[in-house]
Amino acid sequence: WHRSKSSLSDVKERTLIAIKPDGVQRRLVGQIIQRFEQRGFKLVGLKMLQASQDILSEHYCDLRTKPFYSSLLRYMSSGPLVVMVWEGHNVVQTSRTMVGSTNPAEAQAGTVRGDFSIHVSRNVIHASDSVEGAQKEIQLWFQSKDLLDWDCWDQTSTSEV
Ligand code: UDP
Ligand code: MG
Repeated sequence: WHRSKSSLSDVKERTLIAIKPDGVQRRLVGQIIQRFEQRGFKLVGLKMLQASQDILSEHYCDLRTKPFYSSLLRYMSSGPLVVMVWEGHNVVQTSRTMVGSTNPAEAQAGTVRGDFSIHVSRNVIHASDSVEGAQKEIQLWFQSKDLLDWDCWDQTSTSEV
């Protein structure tokens, strides 16, 4: 059977995933990207950068009154991040499940945090927590021209390639 383009409209949900400085230092970039590809999500944006305090204070504006806020910003700006936008059906919620609980001590084995981290202040990865939050974060970290709306070959008939 053939899927029409319109029946694929529900796969357009997007989320922001960032590999934090400890994840980059520990050479976890490849394994983390592999998990998202393997699950079936589509990479539509990717960059590596060292984040400024400005962008981080916007990104974490909801946490500015928390006691860990200033150390969080120091950690997040301490080295390069790999920031990505992933797309697919229910990607926001599914990627939160793949990432695991904020505190790695509570994160299940099989999640990124549950497999690769032990402390909440070095928990390897960020994932947006809602569709609206994801839209805000994607706008903060990416220009729309840097997000690629490409077709997967397995969802395109060969005559179109
Ligand atoms: N964080 C921390 N100590 C805490 C709670 C959070 O250092 O007690 C850090 C941690 O890096 C976490 C980030 O702050 O990932 C953002 O916190 P949030 O509650 O939004 O968790 P997340 O959405 O990342 O699971
Ligand atoms: Mg959060």
